[in-house]
Amino acid sequence: MSSDLRWAVTDGPAGTAAVALPDDGPAAHLLDRAHGVGFWCSRQAGGCGGPLVLEAEDGVRPRFRHQGDTRCRYVGREADAGPRYDHLRYQRALAAWLAGQGHHLRVQKVPQPDGRTGLHVVVDDVGQAIEVQLAPLPDTVWRRRDDRYRRQVRHVTWLYGPAAQSAGDTEAAVRGVAYSVRRHRTGLLVGVRDVDGGTRWVPLGACRLTADGFAAPGATEARARHAERAAGRQEAARRAARCAARAAQQALGPGRGRRGASITGGRPPAPDLHPLPFPR
Ligand SMILES: [Zn+2]
Repeated sequence: MSSDLRWAVTDGPAGTAAVALPDDGPAAHLLDRAHGVGFWCSRQAGGCGGPLVLEAEDGVRPRFRHQGDTRCRYVGREADAGPRYDHLRYQRALAAWLAGQGHHLRVQKVPQPDGRTGLHVVVDDVGQAIEVQLAPLPDTVWRRRDDRYRRQVRHVTWLYGPAAQSAGDTEAAVRGVAYSVRRHRTGLLVGVRDVDGGTRWVPLGACRLTADGFAAPGATEARARHAERAAGRQEAARRAARCAARAAQQALGPGRGRRGASITGGRPPAPDLHPLPFPR
């Protein structure tokens, strides 16, 4: 198991400007030159806050190294750092996007069982919350947290990272739209997922947080498709119920008994109702 430290921040001991080292030496040298001020083991990612040295010798995979005899949780357990740095890259881009729209935000970290960190971002001026979910999340936990947040704020928007895809599937099925999120260079991409499993990727900058909630290109169409589906299912159920009622009436009419209605004691057959995939 490789135990190279691959992550650092470039903005001080408690910095949030996280960088991941590229695998090849020349790219690592470029990163070194681009961030001449230095690299730190960020306290925001559970690190010691100490300065790090970038080592990129020929033929060796680049890595960060603590100076001297630093006492740090990541010395000897370097592989643990990655999951704890990941959220910083989402946090920074999200904070910049919200600040750019004049919003004020409070960020709470949500520790996850697998070592990752999620973000609970409260935007007080519009009474909303944004959940950045980076770890897998069972359906039952998603529902519990979603209910709890909805009691606290007017709108809750979940952004599902690559590992939290299945929680996004659940929300898309229930609400008709769900949002995936991926890192893209220093920014973020938002995937607008519809009930058919399609995803339309847009830069976070193309989305807005308004008084009515998170607005992303394609979300209105996705919700409309979902509503159409639900209406279609209800109509099919009504049709099936009407057919069943007619059949029952015929069975009780002049031809009674000829179709074996006596076998069911004259009870109308159960209507062929398709259950809805999720409670509404
Ligand atoms: Zn450290």
